[in-house]
Amino acid sequence: MLSFAFSPEQEDFRLQLRKFATAELTPHYIERAARPEFSWEAHRQLAGLGVLGIGLPEKYGGSGELDPVTLGIATEALAYGDVNVASAPVLSGLVASQLAENGQAAVVDRWLPQLVAGEAVAAIAVTEPSGGSDVSGMRTEARRVPGGWRISGEKIAITLATAAAVALVYAREPGSEGYRGISCFAVPLDADGVTRTHTPGMGALPLCWGQLSFEDVFVPGDHLVGEPGRGFAAAMEHFDFSRPALGLLCLGAAQASIDEACAWAVQREAFGRPLAAFQGVSFPLAEQATYLEAARWLCYRSLWTREAGEKHTQYAAMSKWWPPIVAKDAIETALVTFGNLGYSTELPLQQRYRDVASYLIADGTAGIQKRIIATAMLGKVAAS
Ligand SMILES: Cc1cc2nc3c(=O)[nH]c(=O)nc-3n(C[C@H](O)[C@H](O)[C@H](O)COP(=O)(O)OP(=O)(O)OC[C@H]3O[C@@H](n4cnc5c(N)ncnc54)[C@H](O)[C@@H]3O)c2cc1C
Repeated sequence: MLSFAFSPEQEDFRLQLRKFATAELTPHYIERAARPEFSWEAHRQLAGLGVLGIGLPEKYGGSGELDPVTLGIATEALAYGDVNVASAPVLSGLVASQLAENGQAAVVDRWLPQLVAGEAVAAIAVTEPSGGSDVSGMRTEARRVPGGWRISGEKIAITLATAAAVALVYAREPGSEGYRGISCFAVPLDADGVTRTHTPGMGALPLCWGQLSFEDVFVPGDHLVGEPGRGFAAAMEHFDFSRPALGLLCLGAAQASIDEACAWAVQREAFGRPLAAFQGVSFPLAEQATYLEAARWLCYRSLWTREAGEKHTQYAAMSKWWPPIVAKDAIETALVTFGNLGYSTELPLQQRYRDVASYLIADGTAGIQKRIIATAMLGKVAAS
């Protein structure tokens, strides 16, 4: 039987979070978005709502069962109010689920309760100055030493670089090549030899984007996450979750923009009639609403397939390349519907446009997602 309905519990949760988003997040979205500071107050509110523990083990404060659809619902509902604050469940979830699955007790017991309680945030450090799309070319090295490892290298464009307490850092053994030599380490960012630098960006400022440098940083042996040399393969499985969730994040922000534009089009008059009376205004809104709906269900299909335990790499890649573009275009349509006001910093539209634009690149560009889909369809020839 085919059903597009959420369960009654999921629908109640969705309504609760949407109410929270409009009452608590929307009013201060622009203010928060203007500062390169992590929004701790809002983040802790998310912890109170149970959003940061979805799908994580109960013993660390989580909800227990893996629950990707509910995480998608939460992300979409919260992004309606503040797309930056709403990214936390995805980012936290991405790190926390990797730790829960592959981390060793010393690391999991230390960080997971703090991540679920909203007392700490974590980063994922893959991208380097030499490139982000081609992860196999990474240069950061992890040398085996007595008792652990020493990491040296540089990571750039890292979300939460200046706010996170810990980062999952991907590094290779000296002399290794390609994906196989890459391991994952949980590195406390207050360790000796770690330097963090903020990188100004066109949006998403509260996500504290920046650079992480590692100068011969000692990491104890039990901070290795997963098997040595197989760190990236394990991470890819988690990206299959984060991609549809990021798609829904963008779509939540876009839906808020289209709703605002509809309200404006009914109220604002030109040539003696409401804007909504002109098909030149109403049809673009109708078109964007159609794209948003199609993109939403693509994302939920991907999360539902994950929940069913089936392979969904292709759907995840589809959910990451198309929905951010759909969302950006919908926000642009809403912005133009508002005329000069849409461009003004008094309204959230220009801010959402810049914040959502970050997901055209973060977690892999459309080009890289299409490469993943094409490889699944056509084989390795499409990945050359
Ligand atoms: C806001 C933001 C947040 C980010 N957060 C993180 C983070 O938390 N952690 C992290 O590790 N990284 C993060 N990144 C980095 C991001 O993952 C990379 O920027 C991205 O993967 C692209 O890598 P690159 O910038 O080196 O571009 P390049 O790899 O140099 O690519 C440049 C262009 O070439 C295209 N291209 C390259 N190869 C191919 C190909 N084979 N086929 C088709 N097109 C191709 C790309 O699509 C892109 O358009 C973030 C980036 C942004 C903008």
